[in-house]
Amino acid sequence: MKRTRALGVAVVTALIVGFSAAAAAAAGPLVRLRIENNDRIQEVFDYTIKHSLSFQDLVTTLELGDHAVYITEGRCPRVDNHACLQLTPGQPKATLIVRIDPRQPIMSVAALLAHELYHAAEILREPDVDDAASLHQLYERIGYRTCAGQSDDCWETRAAKAFQELVWRQLSSQARDYPSTADLPGPRR
Ligand SMILES: [Zn+2]
Repeated sequence: MKRTRALGVAVVTALIVGFSAAAAAAAGPLVRLRIENNDRIQEVFDYTIKHSLSFQDLVTTLELGDHAVYITEGRCPRVDNHACLQLTPGQPKATLIVRIDPRQPIMSVAALLAHELYHAAEILREPDVDDAASLHQLYERIGYRTCAGQSDDCWETRAAKAFQELVWRQLSSQARDYPSTADLPGPRR
């Protein structure tokens, strides 16, 4: 039976850590990183990659990795999380699935997307992480728990929160180029 584990999302803090990766944005069609056929998620992704250089770098990093990363609209195991990352073991590499609720203002969804994709990059850097047990070990080492129950694996890292904040700042500096939140197209499937 395939087992999945979810990483929770926590509130943004102000710690800033830049994410260094290849400078170029993903110029061609995405290969490793795939987006569900979902207009709202695609809109947020396009907006974020256009206005955040750090997000561009992250996408490039994921594209260069060995894991398939899939972004889809969906619910997380913890109902208070609007986004989460799940690992599904597979060959030759586990698939990383970002589940996200895109029915929020575009900036919020963009920040959540940046956060969860950063977690994907954390896993990507660790070639031995390919199942629930190794994922647990990784986050015991680099993260901290955000829930109490032993059966509910939920972890956070300061780096993912910092990256989320960094992308938020980059988008905020470009916000004048985009309609106000009230004018944004509504979430849709
Ligand atoms: Zn997180």
